[in-house]
Amino acid sequence: MSKDTAIQLDEQDPLKAYRNEFYVKEGQYYLDGNSLGLMSKRAEKKVLSLLESWKEYGIDGWTEGEHPWYYFSEKLGEMCAPLVGAKMEEVILTGSTTTNLHQLLATFYKPEGKKVKILADELNFPTDLYAITSHLAIHGHDASYMKLVKSEDGHLLKEEAIIEAMTEDVALVILPGVLYRSGQVLDLAKLTKAAHARGILIGFDLCHSIGSIPHQLHEIGADFAFWCNYKHLNGGPGSVAGIFVHEKHFGTRPGLAGWFGSDKSKQFDLTTEMTPANTAGAYQIGTPHILSLAPIYGSLEIFHEAGIEAIRKKSLRLTQFFIDLIDQELAAFGFTVGSPKDETRGGHIYLVHEEAARICKALKEAGVTPDFRAPNGIRLAPVALYNSFTDVWETVQILKSIMENETYKKFENKRGVIA
Ligand SMILES: *Cc1c(COP(=O)(O)O)cnc(C)c1O
Repeated sequence: MSKDTAIQLDEQDPLKAYRNEFYVKEGQYYLDGNSLGLMSKRAEKKVLSLLESWKEYGIDGWTEGEHPWYYFSEKLGEMCAPLVGAKMEEVILTGSTTTNLHQLLATFYKPEGKKVKILADELNFPTDLYAITSHLAIHGHDASYMKLVKSEDGHLLKEEAIIEAMTEDVALVILPGVLYRSGQVLDLAKLTKAAHARGILIGFDLCHSIGSIPHQLHEIGADFAFWCNYKHLNGGPGSVAGIFVHEKHFGTRPGLAGWFGSDKSKQFDLTTEMTPANTAGAYQIGTPHILSLAPIYGSLEIFHEAGIEAIRKKSLRLTQFFIDLIDQELAAFGFTVGSPKDETRGGHIYLVHEEAARICKALKEAGVTPDFRAPNGIRLAPVALYNSFTDVWETVQILKSIMENETYKKFENKRGVIA
């Protein structure tokens, strides 16, 4: 495959116009959209517009202007709902991933009789495991009450092994939609069905899947889900996160209650007793971070126009092109692909190499932004909305030249503070 193949694929790409919506630096290859998505022009515009409403209206901005702040979390929840396959009132944008998980654990982890354990997996992102451990502790249980499904190869999970671990002592299951290292997509429908058949509640961490693959949370009957909006959704650093609660649970009192979880028509009655909203909005806690919601507004408009199905289609093509080029050009240098090569891969490729840390430093020096994950992984995310097939082709050529010329050897094989 030559550069011409890449150029041709770019010309035929139905989403190619969206690259112009983002601040993409020429001559640089940003492949870290699975850690922090790039800024879009519309996100910038919405931030400026929300600042303007503060300047213009002061306190009245809560109810006046183009985007009344009082309803902003609900409005963005509605806009986000199609990305997770939810009804409008099942989604709310609030909090951070970790605080949302705390809220959902406080609400839905109710150990009773034999059913006391929480099932997760050993490849899950640490913050999830830390949050789970703290809720077990609140109930007087040690970490042995967190059951972790093991991975045979250190990269992938088997759904059969997860289902086998759904024993009668399990009260709740927390799993990722897409694994953050290997990028494996789990079959959420199958796992939900298996959990429910055993009387177990199940919730999903969609940090690496939202905006990258479509979901059908309502239809599959998932109990709840949570995610961040700064990765594939391009909501900006520390942007407000999301919660899905299936409508069958509406009315379940929030484990961590706060006045912004109130029924909106009653909130300002300021009574001593709370009347929670009869929607996912009930799981909000305090005043929404309006300025950190603003960029997601702009970004969600782009997702709405482009459509998540088209995004997934292009993403699969981009990662396939990447895998083919890696096999063709890089196999001789000791790289292995740790992501699934079939369509159970999400939006990024996980390359394994024992020199990964310093190869990443050499990549960065050469204009490619990768993402190192200890001990030996390089995550590379060609993002459908702003990366091109040419970006992928150039990255592989740069990687090849780093290996041929051994330029990585001038760096230490140690990670920096973040990556
Ligand atoms: C990025 C990520 C998080 C981040 O949690 P924050 O509360 O936003 O810091 C959590 N879980 C997974 C799987 C992630 O990939």
